[in-house]
Amino acid sequence: MARSVTFHFVPPAYEPDIGALVYGMTYQDRLYLPYRNFFNNSDWPSIDESQVCPVIALSTEFQEFFVRVWDTATPSKRYRASFMLASTIVHEVAHAYYHHARPWHSDDELEPYHTLEDSKPELGFSWEKWAFGVLINPCNHSITNIGALASCSEVRFQPGEETRSSECKEFPGVTFLPSQNWKGDQWSTVDFNRENRTRLVFRAVPMRWVHEWFDKRCWADAETSEEYAPNPLGPTLMLNFEKANGRLRCFYGVDAG
Ligand SMILES: [Zn+2]
Repeated sequence: MARSVTFHFVPPAYEPDIGALVYGMTYQDRLYLPYRNFFNNSDWPSIDESQVCPVIALSTEFQEFFVRVWDTATPSKRYRASFMLASTIVHEVAHAYYHHARPWHSDDELEPYHTLEDSKPELGFSWEKWAFGVLINPCNHSITNIGALASCSEVRFQPGEETRSSECKEFPGVTFLPSQNWKGDQWSTVDFNRENRTRLVFRAVPMRWVHEWFDKRCWADAETSEEYAPNPLGPTLMLNFEKANGRLRCFYGVDAG
């Protein structure tokens, strides 16, 4: 697989078309790149073409950050952007792996579920859940001006349930209080078109947790422990958004870790 996978940055001129939300994308072959005309054949490294040759595209925002922004960025921004680049690369490698495991599967064929807990068949997310315990993205969807990181999950109400009480069985030990005065749609990651009777749960990702990934002791501990388990996030702020009966409400709580 290492002899046939290639990485590249999406050409900056093409970037607006794929949207700012996409940090990485894996294609079965470079022939399927929607912007393949931006490259000459000689731009590509030589690869083992006797097997399937997936190509991994990384957002041009990463390139921008490391070339133009890095020198003036705060240490926290550097750690967050580096974390997002690393997690995006491995997320995409999970997709590339499936191209090798099942060469030339059709584009509309879904990937398998990795565990029964996976909410959808998407091997990149399955890997993130395994490695981090949660799915993590920047709150402001930006890499060049990367803001705080947060994990997001969705809790669907049970039949007949109209709201969630101050305690949610999915988050034991956390008491959620309604927020009387909040900024509503200024919280840019809330999708107001989502279906009713769900609660979106955002959890702040502490910088201490991000930083630990760049500490050799963290990797040494993982190597010596018998079974891998992600580091817990520790004490974090949690925000919930609930849309029910046409009303959008906000709740907040603290997970003591
Ligand atoms: Zn993916």
